[in-house]
Amino acid sequence: MTHYLRLLLSFFITLTPFVETVACVGGKGFFPKNNWRIPIEQKSRSGINEQQFNQIIDKIAGIYRPIFQSKGAQLVVQRLWSDGTVNAFATRQGNNWIVQMYGGLARHGEITPDGFALVLCHEIGHHLGGVPRYAGANGWASNEGQSDYFAATKCLRRAWQADQNEDIISKMGIPSELRNKCEAEWGNANDQAICMRIGMAGLSTTRMFAVLSAGRMPAFNSPDPTQVNTTLDSHPPYQCRLDTYFHGGLCTVDYNEEIGQNNPNIGTCNRPNGEETGSRRLCWYKPSGDNTNPNPPNPPTPPTDGISPTPTVNGQTSFVSSNPNQLIPIAINLSQVSVAVAVVLEASKPNTSFSNPNGTTADPVNSLGHVIIRGTQGTYYLSPANQLPGWGSYQLRVLALDANGRVLSRFSNPFTLVLQR
Ligand SMILES: [Zn+2]
Repeated sequence: MTHYLRLLLSFFITLTPFVETVACVGGKGFFPKNNWRIPIEQKSRSGINEQQFNQIIDKIAGIYRPIFQSKGAQLVVQRLWSDGTVNAFATRQGNNWIVQMYGGLARHGEITPDGFALVLCHEIGHHLGGVPRYAGANGWASNEGQSDYFAATKCLRRAWQADQNEDIISKMGIPSELRNKCEAEWGNANDQAICMRIGMAGLSTTRMFAVLSAGRMPAFNSPDPTQVNTTLDSHPPYQCRLDTYFHGGLCTVDYNEEIGQNNPNIGTCNRPNGEETGSRRLCWYKPSGDNTNPNPPNPPTPPTDGISPTPTVNGQTSFVSSNPNQLIPIAINLSQVSVAVAVVLEASKPNTSFSNPNGTTADPVNSLGHVIIRGTQGTYYLSPANQLPGWGSYQLRVLALDANGRVLSRFSNPFTLVLQR
């Protein structure tokens, strides 16, 4: 039986080990409801300044605007610099998916620029973070722990990918627990540095909460030992939240893989895949027993006679873009392939066609490279500027893999992506 070879391509970013990611919604905040205020006239030297406040929002909102648009929504960030509220919120009005960022939070002495970015990513996470969600009227919103997990696994890593991360962390005092784990989980220095930045951002916001509530300081080496019986939707205790940020930063699943909108084990590190490190913390999350185990024991020998369904964008099998910075939301659904747990997404070199249409191995001639995506149904955000070598017409195709990396289906007919000025 063919085992899929990992031929890696330089244009594709992170290949993850194969096997398998609100605001506080409706009146709830990044922090629980509180009466804390830091009015603008009380401005101290601490916190971040108005220029940093705006720069961080510009950068992250700019990255996420097209992802919201791909869901038929408009990201609206309300910049409430002069308001002393120490919080942030997410809410929705029709297609306007709103995030409210307050100056009071930005002016607190414990907040760092990265901590502020984490808060913004948490609020975006309420809109995009997938399951688990709140119940009832706030059912559109990922719950608090999940918004934290999205912020750490997806949003911050996406936002900081191109930064001078090693320089940035060289100016921070990184606790050894954080440094050691980040170095153990990630293979290159930039990814390790982003992991450390994520942990330190989490330390900033959780220390802020500790100061405001006069509690004990959170730390990486004192995880919350609680195990909940049912998933907690509201704000976890702050040490538990730090644990989530810490482990979210350790999860090596590709940040381009969207977290499952119905299945929590898509796009995430998770226990059914044997990944304790990097998974949601048990101090707020109760894994449910009924989610399909992506790695069933003793899978039968797979057939390879079926042609996989072609990926789509907006329901179409071709897409034209003139903006390389526009993320392309590629919808993949191979869920009908029995015992499949992952998908290979292969791209052709520009202006070529695959030389082995509907084959079961990578194209030996015209392949640009491939990524392995865990889960069989979801959205992969392709970033042409980062992942493709230039203008041209590209073919993209998918096939299914089982838990042992064996090929289960033939490559789909190609999806065509045209990048033209
Ligand atoms: Zn929240």
